[in-house]
Amino acid sequence: MTTATSSAEPPLIVGAGPTGLAAALFLRERGIPARIIDSASEPTTHSKALGVNPRTLDLLESTGVTDRMLETGRMARGMNLWRPDRKLATINLGGTGHRFPFMLVLSQAESERLLTEALTERGITVERGVGLTDIATANGGITATLSTGETLTPSVVLGADGAHSTVRKSLGRDFPGSAYPEPWHLYDARLQTTLDDEFINAFLLDDGVLLFIRIKENLWRIVSNVTDPLGQLPAGTTVEAVEWDSEFGFAHRIAKPLYADNICLAGDAAHIHSAFGARGMNLGIEDAYVFAALVAENRLSEYEAHRRPVIESVVKRVARATEIPRGKSLSAKLVRRFPSVVSWLAPKAESAVRTWVLGLDHDLDIE
Ligand SMILES: Cc1cc2nc3c(=O)[nH]c(=O)nc-3n(C[C@H](O)[C@H](O)[C@H](O)COP(=O)(O)OP(=O)(O)OC[C@H]3O[C@@H](n4cnc5c(N)ncnc54)[C@H](O)[C@@H]3O)c2cc1C
Repeated sequence: MTTATSSAEPPLIVGAGPTGLAAALFLRERGIPARIIDSASEPTTHSKALGVNPRTLDLLESTGVTDRMLETGRMARGMNLWRPDRKLATINLGGTGHRFPFMLVLSQAESERLLTEALTERGITVERGVGLTDIATANGGITATLSTGETLTPSVVLGADGAHSTVRKSLGRDFPGSAYPEPWHLYDARLQTTLDDEFINAFLLDDGVLLFIRIKENLWRIVSNVTDPLGQLPAGTTVEAVEWDSEFGFAHRIAKPLYADNICLAGDAAHIHSAFGARGMNLGIEDAYVFAALVAENRLSEYEAHRRPVIESVVKRVARATEIPRGKSLSAKLVRRFPSVVSWLAPKAESAVRTWVLGLDHDLDIE
């Protein structure tokens, strides 16, 4: 197997979120030890992503991380769609023929811990508290400056440094797209509830959505765009304690270019979109897999051609799907006005929705 390392320095991965950690692991599995840095001195204990999809479980399986994720997480078997007073439909995630016919619910902090553990076992340590401050290319080479004052000349770089990516900004790469104006609320709360905890429960309210996902024990994630989510809980649900609450905005953007001069962007540094469909982290891990495969085969210049069509199609569908929970478009209003449409449509759309949510809506023909 040939590698793309024309300089003696190993590949540099900037950012040790799920994308960067997975990239370091996939490269190591192909016999290429990378250097991985993260400006944060400690991993975050708060968890954005909860849904690990079957594609990610497939990609990580040979590393042993999948088994550990399955031991630690819990399965969500589908989604119940509700109006406040009645259930409209159930979308089941089983029936794809895939051996992981569910969404694994696992906190992002846990996923990152398990990826880091796998790296440590393979002799790779995340360099924490080490940030990239600048990166430039000249005469076919890369120069990366670190917060420690060190200057590196890696042959290959992966910018996996999140939505505000220093790699992307230093290189002057565009991040075109648009943002929604409204804030979204997140609560990780201890609940007493009669909701079916094996399913994600989505309540279509007149002005938005209330989403319930059980994380573990009686800890649930509530995500909503209505003004007072905890004041609009369904009958039979009460909050015992809120462990974490946060507010965030959604935007849809894709970096341009994703690849140039042996520097790739991946994960949130490359694409951001709403959390509906649970694709962000999963897509980042897929970027990481493709990056590692191409580095190992000295074909990194193909990264753009491999990733852009997939990313564009996923972001487009996520944007379209997000209109229903947002409740602002004509179709979103019609769905609320005539909820029987949802009951009628759900069984017909089930197969397509399931394939999309599980991340099985495209092939990954990299090898
Ligand atoms: C409410 C919510 C729910 C979500 N749910 C899901 C879900 O269920 N499933 C899913 O797949 N996705 C989900 N997502 C999206 C997911 O959280 C992100 O897509 C994911 O975190 C992206 O991972 P990343 O590694 O690319 O970037 P990040 O997680 O942002 O990691 C980037 C890392 O880079 C480091 N860094 C930044 N700048 C520098 C620098 N200059 N030098 C060195 N290091 C640097 C940061 O410290 C950080 O550790 C959700 C997002 C939100 C907001």
